[in-house]
Amino acid sequence: MIRILKALAKAFTPQRCAYCDDVIFPQDLMCEECAASLPRIEGEICTRCGREKDECSCDGEKYYSMLAAPFYYEGVVRKGLHIFKFRHGQQNSGAYCLEMAETFSERFAAEDFDYIVGVPMTKKSIRKRGYNQVRLLAKGLSECVNIPYREDVLIKLYETRPQHGISYLFRKGNLTGVFDVGNSDAVRGKKILLCDDISTSGETFNECAKMLWLNGAEKVCCICLALTKSKKKDK
Ligand SMILES: [Zn+2]
Ligand SMILES: [Zn+2]
Repeated sequence: MIRILKALAKAFTPQRCAYCDDVIFPQDLMCEECAASLPRIEGEICTRCGREKDECSCDGEKYYSMLAAPFYYEGVVRKGLHIFKFRHGQQNSGAYCLEMAETFSERFAAEDFDYIVGVPMTKKSIRKRGYNQVRLLAKGLSECVNIPYREDVLIKLYETRPQHGISYLFRKGNLTGVFDVGNSDAVRGKKILLCDDISTSGETFNECAKMLWLNGAEKVCCICLALTKSKKKDK
């Protein structure tokens, strides 16, 4: 009965643009205006930080070898991600996973990852939000690119302040010791793709990659939906 009600509700819920939330045709994923104004990362791209060459923010060694994202975190992508994270916009994940899958095939086609893992959230924040938005992206991407998804690999031990809300100097300290590997047998000798929604300075990815590396991972690469543009003063 519940399943029938859910199907009915879905049939009568209008399809909405994954970026601006406007009502669109049922077969579409986004409206024409958003499709035309997506802040795509394109042209000559730095494979280490995932940004266009003139936005490159590489600053020293990282525990991951490559980072890729389809978009910059601005304009309609910023708007869509806000709905996705804070206004129960779970339905947006399908459109986002397709974009990430396209970026994956452009940049990571030569890699043979053993599995995809999401940057973990604490149980408390998943409870508070009602869902884990990174899990939706990582799992969706894994289905699109046909690479297994694992959930038992990384854990977040305690809550931290959001990385984008604090200055660069404090970001590293904010994350030290926050993540751990829940299953080191699953990590040793493996090539792992880490997935997140947004990356600012790459510190969250780096801290997760560090734990994977310390537990014997052979290679770690990262993918997210959006990257903030580098702020020279913030470096
Ligand atoms: Zn739109
Ligand atoms: Zn770079």
